[in-house]
Amino acid sequence: MDKYFPKLRWVILILGFAISTFGVYIIGKRFTQDYVPVFICPINREGTIDGACYKLSHLNGLFGVTPWVDIGLFFLGVALFIVIFGRMLCGFLCPLGFIQDLVFKFRSSINGSSVIRFGSRDNSSVNLVKWGFLFVFFGICAFGINFCDLCPVKAVTPLIAGGKLELHMSFFVTVIVVVGSFFKYRFWCNVCPLGYFVGVFHKFSLFRLKKNCQACTECGYCYEACPMEIKSIYTERKKSNITTCDCLFCSDCIKVCPEDQALKITFLGKAIYTSSREAFFYNNSGLQGKKDEP
Ligand code: SF4
Ligand code: SF4
Repeated sequence: MDKYFPKLRWVILILGFAISTFGVYIIGKRFTQDYVPVFICPINREGTIDGACYKLSHLNGLFGVTPWVDIGLFFLGVALFIVIFGRMLCGFLCPLGFIQDLVFKFRSSINGSSVIRFGSRDNSSVNLVKWGFLFVFFGICAFGINFCDLCPVKAVTPLIAGGKLELHMSFFVTVIVVVGSFFKYRFWCNVCPLGYFVGVFHKFSLFRLKKNCQACTECGYCYEACPMEIKSIYTERKKSNITTCDCLFCSDCIKVCPEDQALKITFLGKAIYTSSREAFFYNNSGLQGKKDEP
């Protein structure tokens, strides 16, 4: 199973993308320019399902007009979702994640070298953008500006689902994200406010990224492969739980780890994907020798 896990991830990503992008047709709705085909995006004027993302970025519209019981139920639902899935949402289901993966894969197939790396996760300019978006996500909506105006998913999914090209702000953000993804793996994920918000609660998530420090030979492949450039997955020498709020659970670090049992993703303590030599040689036939030290 470990050998085929990366392929399984692609299958889930494709399904998630298809459902979130073409779901409007599946449920028999008529697609209009005002309708974002993502099921859960309530930007849809016809309103399918109220999405957590929209409500979280419009807290001012939630408090004051919604009964307290409903607000409580909403936050309970968000908490449950975060505990059960965490940033698995980013690594396995996000339609924008799929588009970024596709663009980067295309780029790797034509030229695998000279990709951009932001440096380590304490890179201050990346953090500045991330915190800026987080502020817009939760804060500025109170003053009449909302994150949906910048959201690349809002621009890209209607376009792919057959909508007309509209040159609004989120379209330009989408162009930056697509171009960025060509040079930097999961470019947008490094600054996505929703992803970071979910990641902050990873401590409670049922999914975990774990490391067996005794099995690790310090090759650094995991750090080289990580789209979020999380250095601790390579440098950690004691702790077994190495899940951080930036981790997307993309599992790329496990895919490139050549050591049996050194890295794994667990659900409720049970391993669902573990690094192994066999899987390493099966999935990384192009990797030759040791990469540069991180
Ligand atoms: S630590 Fe591993 S699973 Fe997490 S983002 Fe990096 S490569 Fe993906
Ligand atoms: S790829 Fe595996 S063996 Fe290499 S540094 Fe990372 S955890 Fe250790």
